[in-house]
Amino acid sequence: MKTTPFWTDQFPRPADLPVAANLPDQVDVAIVGSGYTGLNAARVLAKAGATVAVLERHTIGWGASSRNGGMATPGIKRPLKQIYQAYGRDYAHQFWQASLDAIDLIDQLVREEGIDCDWQRNGHIALAAKASHFENQKQSSQWLKEEFGHETALVAPSDLRNEIGSGVYFGGLADPYSGGLQPARYVYGLAQVAAKYGAHLCENADVQRIERLPTRFLVHTKNGSVNAKEVLIATNGYTDRLVPQLKPKIFPVGSYIIVTKPLPADQQVKLSPKGRMFYTTQNFLHYFRLTPDGRMLWGGRNNLSVDLDPQESARRLRASMNHAFPELADVPITHTWTGQLGLTFDLMPHIGRVEGIHYAFGYCGHGLSIATYVGTEVGKLLAGQIRHSPFQEIPEDVRFFYRNRPWFLPFAAQYYRFKDLVS
Ligand SMILES: Cc1cc2nc3c(=O)[nH]c(=O)nc-3n(C[C@H](O)[C@H](O)[C@H](O)COP(=O)(O)OP(=O)(O)OC[C@H]3O[C@@H](n4cnc5c(N)ncnc54)[C@H](O)[C@@H]3O)c2cc1C
Repeated sequence: MKTTPFWTDQFPRPADLPVAANLPDQVDVAIVGSGYTGLNAARVLAKAGATVAVLERHTIGWGASSRNGGMATPGIKRPLKQIYQAYGRDYAHQFWQASLDAIDLIDQLVREEGIDCDWQRNGHIALAAKASHFENQKQSSQWLKEEFGHETALVAPSDLRNEIGSGVYFGGLADPYSGGLQPARYVYGLAQVAAKYGAHLCENADVQRIERLPTRFLVHTKNGSVNAKEVLIATNGYTDRLVPQLKPKIFPVGSYIIVTKPLPADQQVKLSPKGRMFYTTQNFLHYFRLTPDGRMLWGGRNNLSVDLDPQESARRLRASMNHAFPELADVPITHTWTGQLGLTFDLMPHIGRVEGIHYAFGYCGHGLSIATYVGTEVGKLLAGQIRHSPFQEIPEDVRFFYRNRPWFLPFAAQYYRFKDLVS
């Protein structure tokens, strides 16, 4: 069993990816982080004629953007009802629409830029883990239709076999808007596009300090410095104390995945007749799907920590997968890996600026489409193509007890497990 992501094993970073041999001396915008946020901002800015350097500590796309489940689903992490209550009807509509536009944006990029990443819009189904959750789904479905004009389909427990070859769920809510892709192919495709428009892709460029000059910044990496007019931090779940004011705004949470070896074609059809993306309705949810080459991919949060041993994670994930799909009990697992999500206390993504430095992060596990969208928005803001974004406008939530180390996560995990038990 390999402990590296299946996606990059299947599709390694292309040898012809045009990475820069040296750091450029001077650019309009230096972007720290080369995932969907950084690369989409770079794409927009470079296309608009700005000089851009994407500075990545490891290799291009190394972070969550090549490690995720590859599932693009409507909504953002914070439940829409809560968004409606917290920010009002107008913002609820704006954020909901942004989440749909984000999926359409992937569609558009794949089509217009020719990104070959196994993108398919087969929809998703949220699987009720309890009968009470299915009752909630009935209300959600109706509200989505009445308030937002968005059509979903309730799947009664007796009809679930048309959607999934498992008998452990209590119904579901299907949404045809969603899609799935191969994350590594997508992130390398975005990198090719950003480079095509002229962005400098710089690997092994760990940014260690940002120095403020009178009107510009000097961005110091371990291999030299770049002078930049603007700096964008796009490090999401890997945000450290590079800009100390950002650390209290976001904390890392580990997400873990296993994949099996490819399944026989008839078994694939039995387990996932419509090729949907799946997730369950608990706080400690599982997300799963078939990969484009017919493996079962099964993911979850385990215990929120970022340092669970990958073998132990595989043992736990395997147990939950076997519960849902007993017939996979003897199928070998080929890969187990992890990556870091970036969570905010209000479960909302944010675009902002501290001491002149821009940032965009906080996708809370929804970043495939939302980071694509927010990265594009922040690129447009910096290029002067738009004047504001709703993701800039909502207040951020910080807590007095968190400045550096997310010591509270084990307690939060207990709390959410208890909530799952009694819900
Ligand atoms: C296991 C897993 C499963 C997921 N599944 C899904 C899913 O199915 N659907 C979905 O919508 N979302 C999913 N997500 C979330 C999604 O992957 C992320 O929200 C998204 O990739 C974030 O993109 P990003 O560009 O903001 O950050 P990242 O892709 O994490 O990129 C940040 C980069 O910053 C670099 N960096 C950090 N500090 C520095 C520094 N000082 N100098 C230089 N570089 C630095 C890091 O090396 C990293 O490469 C999942 C995440 C994980 C980990």
